[in-house]
Amino acid sequence: MQQLLKGKNILVMGVANKWSIAWGIAQKLHEAGACLAFTYQGQKSEENIRKLIHGTMPEAPLIPCDVQNDQDIEATFQQVGEKFGMLHGIIHSIAHAKKEELEGCYFDTSREGYLMAQEISAYSLVAVTKYAKPLMTGGGSIVTLTYLGGERVIKNYNVMGVAKAALEASVKYLAVDLGKENIRVNAISAGPIKTLAAKGIKNFSTMLNEFEEKSPMGRLILTEEVGNTALFLCSSLSSGITGENIHVDCGYHILG
Ligand code: NDP
Repeated sequence: MQQLLKGKNILVMGVANKWSIAWGIAQKLHEAGACLAFTYQGQKSEENIRKLIHGTMPEAPLIPCDVQNDQDIEATFQQVGEKFGMLHGIIHSIAHAKKEELEGCYFDTSREGYLMAQEISAYSLVAVTKYAKPLMTGGGSIVTLTYLGGERVIKNYNVMGVAKAALEASVKYLAVDLGKENIRVNAISAGPIKTLAAKGIKNFSTMLNEFEEKSPMGRLILTEEVGNTALFLCSSLSSGITGENIHVDCGYHILG
């Protein structure tokens, strides 16, 4: 476990604070010996990441990247290339929808809200992959985060569920595009976890309670469990897996 990712350079996108799923993943990758770089969008996130990495990986590059901006994405991978040369992995842990779109009826979704959710939460994986590919000359692993609301209707998830469906389909198309180059693309479908983004979903705490009560394992998922799965997907232990959506949700998805 300790050295599973020794010599691997991985870009982590989507740490906002210590509760972020991306931070749970980053800690596991770091423990396994990976060299990490981070992107952030907001200034607050930058400050938070600086504090988080202070004691453990102070040298890790922090790169500003708004995934709605192609120039940002291109510049990000230019910097990653200058720092690391070769890239072996990407954690794409980014999503956003307007708070008002995460409640009520799906048919009330605005055109602007729909496009924004798709652009940030689904298209960004495509754009990031395009610019990352030239650096992944030794093969690699791209991991994104999704949720069950992309497969079935979950109350209030609305426009984000549709964006996750597009993200999950993108994982499959990208896996086919890149498979021969030994670049694997997979998703982790995590159970609900209390994070900044999750707070935007109306009645999220009800969702958590219901999950805890009904999930086969009778408990909530831990961020570190998502981190361990990401570590597996970034390592050679998962060398034959691509285009997959792994549910890390205490078995909740098997329920009807
Ligand atoms: P966080 O709020 O911690 O992370 C979301 C991240 O998305 C933030 O770092 C945010 O950056 C970033 N982001 C939003 N818009 C942009 C943008 N335009 N450009 C670049 N970055 C952007 O929440 P989570 O950790 O919960 O979310 C991570 C992923 O996990 C998401 O894809 C989410 O859908 C998924 N997921 C979450 C679950 C949960 O219950 N929490 C369950 C299943 C999946 P900033 O804050 O700087 O804007």
